[in-house]
Amino acid sequence: MKDLKRAAFVEQEFQPYAQADASAFVEWLLRKLFEIHGNVNFEWITQFEALFRILTVPFDTCRVCAIVNEAAVEAATGLTINVRPNDNTVDEAFQNFIENDTDAEYQCRSKTCKGANRFKERRWAVRAAPRILRVTLNIFAYDVNAQYVRKIMHALTIGEILDLTQYQECTVVPLRYRLSAVIPHRGNSADAGHYIANVRSQGPNPLYNINDTRVESISGAQFTSNPHLLRGGQSARFQAYILTYIRDEAPLEQHLESTNKMVATDLKIDRGKKPVV
Ligand SMILES: [Zn+2]
Repeated sequence: MKDLKRAAFVEQEFQPYAQADASAFVEWLLRKLFEIHGNVNFEWITQFEALFRILTVPFDTCRVCAIVNEAAVEAATGLTINVRPNDNTVDEAFQNFIENDTDAEYQCRSKTCKGANRFKERRWAVRAAPRILRVTLNIFAYDVNAQYVRKIMHALTIGEILDLTQYQECTVVPLRYRLSAVIPHRGNSADAGHYIANVRSQGPNPLYNINDTRVESISGAQFTSNPHLLRGGQSARFQAYILTYIRDEAPLEQHLESTNKMVATDLKIDRGKKPVV
């Protein structure tokens, strides 16, 4: 903790008693933890990656010859999803992120196009998924017409389950996440306003809202409500900014169990065979 405090304030990444972008802070925290411990502890790096790192790979389809090109794999400790004014659910925003239509030009090296500049359609696939997935909803979008950053304030439904099975490169094992925390924000800029947190804990009443030093039990509906309204008649509306999900380990465990059984059966068959002379 001392190392982190020193890094934050002495290196002047963040100012004491100042509001900072919550997503930028979490990103910085993970990066620093990796730097401080990763340099000396290889096992720690492996565990860190299994916990937080997501690998995605973009596939670009040429709009002329329809040949698909795989671009370089991208590693990150979370995903940032753009939210459009017409998105009604996080799932819709996520699908748009995955099936991202980037009309950027690139050189298509197919036999038809021979290195000519072409427009492409980009689609992402998940290559390796972390146990803890952080999704930042990019609700601070630059409005080209108004020429300023406009926060997206409209209601956006958050699902309890985020199923990424269909977006994986290899879809043999289902990839499902369960919502574990929501960080809603009030105000017009990520560097100002107020952050609160809705978190899932353990025990008989596992959902809580944390608002500075105040901690209150909340219902399932309040946990996922977006905009979030604080209880007690306060009229302030908070918009979900960061979502944290925890991977459902059951499908992976079932897959490993059935694979182990298959291996055991094969070994038994092999042992039962008479040696070939
Ligand atoms: Zn082409």
